[in-house]
Amino acid sequence: MMTDTKASNTMSQTDTHPHNVTQTHLADLPILFESLHIDTLPNDVQTKIARVDACLPQTQCGLCEHPDGCLPYAAAIVLEGEPYNKCVPGGQPVTDAIAQTIGIDSEDNTLTAAPSQWPIDMASGRPTEVRAVIREDDCIGCTKCIPACPVDAIVGTGKHMHTIFTDLCTGCELCIAPCPVDCIDLVVVERELSPFDRVAEQEDLRQRYHTHLKRVTEQLADTSNSKPVVSMVEAKLNNAASQSLNISEAQAKNTIAAAKLRTKIKKLEKQLSVRANDKKQMELEGLQAELDALQAVL
Ligand code: SF4
Ligand code: SF4
Ligand code: SF4
Repeated sequence: MMTDTKASNTMSQTDTHPHNVTQTHLADLPILFESLHIDTLPNDVQTKIARVDACLPQTQCGLCEHPDGCLPYAAAIVLEGEPYNKCVPGGQPVTDAIAQTIGIDSEDNTLTAAPSQWPIDMASGRPTEVRAVIREDDCIGCTKCIPACPVDAIVGTGKHMHTIFTDLCTGCELCIAPCPVDCIDLVVVERELSPFDRVAEQEDLRQRYHTHLKRVTEQLADTSNSKPVVSMVEAKLNNAASQSLNISEAQAKNTIAAAKLRTKIKKLEKQLSVRANDKKQMELEGLQAELDALQAVL
């Protein structure tokens, strides 16, 4: 994905327009999109939503004010007449492609794309692309970035260094804010992508996001899985990201409590080794039982 074929410097609306898009990806949607009731809409409306969605970068960044990603934004454009220029990473080419898709033929009437904090890339006409990179020496392995990633591009386990598969990262920046030690950097990616490859990449990203949502939904339904990998949909459904945080906080508290108990036990054992004392013996047994119970949940 980092070495793509050359694209024209003057990418037209037609270049980015997904002529051959079908509505197949609107079938079997993740539960997160059930509230859109897409399957109850007339076929031509479903197709229109699918075609608008196919114009979108599938970064799933939520910068269009749709935190659940590109498909809800596509639905809002078609069903609610929401302005079609709000996709920040898509820039003007995506705004123009949507305009064409929803039947705005005159370029004079096309809206100006929402501005990006990143400068416009001359080759694509879109904001410069970025990818996230973890400064691995600084990572404390807290796992907070994992649930934020919509495409499962981050790997790592608790208390171990995490890393990002750059090829999978969309540069959505959603993992930056949760990192407590600011060890995730964004690096600029310079690449030129052919229109064909861009459509293929967007289809792949869409599938990855939907697969991610379905997998996490299944994990939530599986009660035997006591600590599923948390994700955006989990946070959405159960506020489970904070639930996961609570689990680690509880573990941390238990660890501290156990350490305090061990100190008290050692002191008592020392005192009892010098002189027997029934009251202290009972206290010791109580503390030992408390420690055993804590250790069982650690
Ligand atoms: S890529 Fe564009 S349409 Fe998709 S979530 Fe981000 S801003 Fe919205
Ligand atoms: S690694 Fe970070 S920037 Fe990249 S896709 Fe995942 S959340 Fe977005
Ligand atoms: S949030 Fe930051 S510190 Fe925590 S695992 Fe991710 S990169 Fe490492």
